[in-house]
Amino acid sequence: MRRLEETGDTFFPLRSLSQKLPQEILEALSSQARGRTVNAPALETYRRKRDFSKTTEPAPALPRSSSQGSRRRFVIQKHNASHLHYDFRLEMHGVLKSWAVPKGPPVKEDERRLAMATEDHPIEYLDFEGIIPKGQYGGGTVMVWDIGTYDLAEGNYYRGYLRFFLNGAKLKGEWTLTRLPSDERQKWQLLKTNGNTRTISRKRDDQSVLSNRTMKQIEKDADAQWNSNR
Ligand code: MN
Repeated sequence: MRRLEETGDTFFPLRSLSQKLPQEILEALSSQARGRTVNAPALETYRRKRDFSKTTEPAPALPRSSSQGSRRRFVIQKHNASHLHYDFRLEMHGVLKSWAVPKGPPVKEDERRLAMATEDHPIEYLDFEGIIPKGQYGGGTVMVWDIGTYDLAEGNYYRGYLRFFLNGAKLKGEWTLTRLPSDERQKWQLLKTNGNTRTISRKRDDQSVLSNRTMKQIEKDADAQWNSNR
């Protein structure tokens, strides 16, 4: 207090000092604002279906882009909900475009599997493995069945046609996703194109590529945590 009496408030000039922020900070701030307004509605359905005070799944955050440049990430999560299925997700437009594939990805050329488009998921969902509590939307065990990067060779989500190469721990090769001509816009088909890929053994099918755990072990551990170090 004595010093204040002697020297006065040295921070006083800050009140009237106008400052200029560096250009890169201004740009970062405005692109963040853009992200908020452009991408938030994409996750509205995801948000609406879940109670984030109860589920273990990540709440949507500000979208962040891949650190891998043009190589985008994909994940396939084995999900033992009311029906066992595989959730196929491609990182695209700041979200994970998602399909539920009841029978899992095909491995033989020309094999096709039904893929039902589901709501966009936040990027944070990429390495979610654990348990969604019973009674919550999609309640059940979730395993990171495969994860990796993909290269889009051709197509566009909104046209209902995507041909891409997966480079995962289990799946490597080319697949094609095509929206089926039907009234329900969510019906797609996942097709193995351009050759066979390695068949997944029964043991490998029940093994997480993140933790090596089986569905039973994930359920028993009940940790429901997701590794943010990926
Ligand atoms: Mn699911």
